[in-house]
Amino acid sequence: MSHLVEIKGLEKTFQRPGTFPWSPKQAVRAVRGVDITVGEGEVIALVGQSGSGKTTVARMVLGLEEPTAGEIHLEGRRWDGLSESERGPHRIRYQYVPQDAMSALDPQQNAIEHVVETLRVLGGRDKASAFEQAREMLDRLGLGGRAHALPRQMSGGEQRRVTLARVLALEPRLIVADEPTSGLEPDRRAAVLQDLVGNLPEKAGCILVTHDMGAARRWAHRAYVMLEGKVIEELDLREADPVHPYSQMLFDPWSFPVPSGDIAKAGCPFLPDCGLAVEPLRKLCEAKRPGLGVVGAGEHRVACHHHAPANRSGET
Ligand code: SF4
Repeated sequence: MSHLVEIKGLEKTFQRPGTFPWSPKQAVRAVRGVDITVGEGEVIALVGQSGSGKTTVARMVLGLEEPTAGEIHLEGRRWDGLSESERGPHRIRYQYVPQDAMSALDPQQNAIEHVVETLRVLGGRDKASAFEQAREMLDRLGLGGRAHALPRQMSGGEQRRVTLARVLALEPRLIVADEPTSGLEPDRRAAVLQDLVGNLPEKAGCILVTHDMGAARRWAHRAYVMLEGKVIEELDLREADPVHPYSQMLFDPWSFPVPSGDIAKAGCPFLPDCGLAVEPLRKLCEAKRPGLGVVGAGEHRVACHHHAPANRSGET
């Protein structure tokens, strides 16, 4: 499978203001050495809680943030470091589904006008063919009878579908969807994700950003689980279940606190919340932050001294 997306050693450090106006700025490493691939026709999930770095990675893939270090290749083309004019002709191929659908929609435009405008402005279509294609896309997403509804007259699920219709109508090669079901009821979430994944253009890839491991397992082929800027588990969801205790926690992310370990310390950041770190393993968990090590056969890798003992040398 050729790679649509190849990310190597991605880093992002933000400079945050200090506590007081005269305090020096603080460097915050939001993304720390991340490697990711997305193949043609593949849905990958970036999974983690708020602050894990997943949204920052997604924004860098689309060129909405510049990496501090590392490389991003889209369809074999180096993408990081390009100017806007260099990226411009290719942008239509890489599309974004935002978390907040309502703020992404124009309150004065109805559903079909949103899709038509996107097709005309970004896709260069004439008015007649844009209307025809927009109508077809809205029908496909179950919005045929809502074509003339304004955003305020739509349910949350319908608003998401309009944002999906705009993106899917452009037939991109890659869609990055940032928590596209945020704020929806559980039954509506599944329907929106079915509309997204079920209508991806042939051979298009998708990066689904989510805090929900259950959604990742249902809708994605592979997952990268992120904790404090690093990938701590990478697996093919069709062949294996997540084993890292943090990954398992994400099946019910609302019932657990954000891991409370100190990122500046050498050991595993999940240590204070981990039931696996019992003596004598605990000493190692305190002393060395685990690097990704292979679990079993295949592509399953996890950063955990318990599950990947061959990797107990760890990393700093
Ligand atoms: S490395 Fe240790 S503390 Fe971290 S998840 Fe594995 S067992 Fe738990």
